Amino acid sequence: MIISIASGKGGTGKTTIATNLAQVISTEMDTWFLDCDVEAPNAHLFLTPQIDKTQDVSLLIPEVDDSKCDGCGVCDEVCAFNAIVVLGDKAMVFPEICHSCGGCSRCCPKKAISETPVRIGQVEAGRAGDIRFFRGVSDVGVAVVTPVVKAVKNKARLADENTAVLIDAPPGTGCPVVAAVSGSDYCVLVTEPTPFGLNDLKLAVQLVRHMGIDCGVVINRCGLTGSESDVDAYCESEGIPILARIPFDRRYAGCYARGGIWVNEFPELHNAFNALWASITAELAAGGSAQ
Ligand code: SF4
Ligand code: SF4
Repeated sequence: MIISIASGKGGTGKTTIATNLAQVISTEMDTWFLDCDVEAPNAHLFLTPQIDKTQDVSLLIPEVDDSKCDGCGVCDEVCAFNAIVVLGDKAMVFPEICHSCGGCSRCCPKKAISETPVRIGQVEAGRAGDIRFFRGVSDVGVAVVTPVVKAVKNKARLADENTAVLIDAPPGTGCPVVAAVSGSDYCVLVTEPTPFGLNDLKLAVQLVRHMGIDCGVVINRCGLTGSESDVDAYCESEGIPILARIPFDRRYAGCYARGGIWVNEFPELHNAFNALWASITAELAAGGSAQ
């Protein structure tokens, strides 16, 4: 069972919802947590895992042998990302934007391009109490992070059918989010009751629907602004279930700032996350309602 937790907008409390949900589920069943927000992973601040394994993630980046290259320009034409450019009679590679598709090296008529592995990040594995924990971390300055997300996602393949796999997706609706959410049985979209939150929720709903994944919404920080009714109206018009409403409370914000886990400190939130988990399993059993 793979459940992703996503949000069109950053800063909605997605990781807080994901880590608290993991904590609650782990008392019932085998639980794996995959932090796929590889450019800014922060679930470890709350779950405080013990990391026992790390594994590099590398991309094959082209390297041009100037003695063989005649500047024909074929590689420049083939590359869809402008990551290899021919200037005069020389081909220049821009590794930061190379997607490692291998097209240039395969098409080079002079066999002047070889490929060298270049590290772009790493995957860490460990345990946080009863939770099996994985996270991806992209290296500073790396622009193409989706392969790091995929490397973390690959760990989910090792889980059996009785395991709940929670995926903390990156914010936004770009390629790393698609990589994180793809293959999920259900997606929890975390939003906040603001016009920006609603706008980005709509984009996220379009994305997961396009991917054929059922979704439900958690509204975080309820009561902080007056826009909750707008989120309600949108979800009702789209037939999207609201799975939980987490009120704004300064005590909750203080717990978050200390790196605390809500469900361990606030009985009312422990109940709320148990109810959230029950709603998700009910949605899964019903085959979802957001298609
Ligand atoms: S395709 Fe090969 S020979 Fe032609 S410009 Fe590119 S690297 Fe040089
Ligand atoms: S490997 Fe692909 S993305 Fe990278 S430079 Fe070659 S054609 Fe472009």
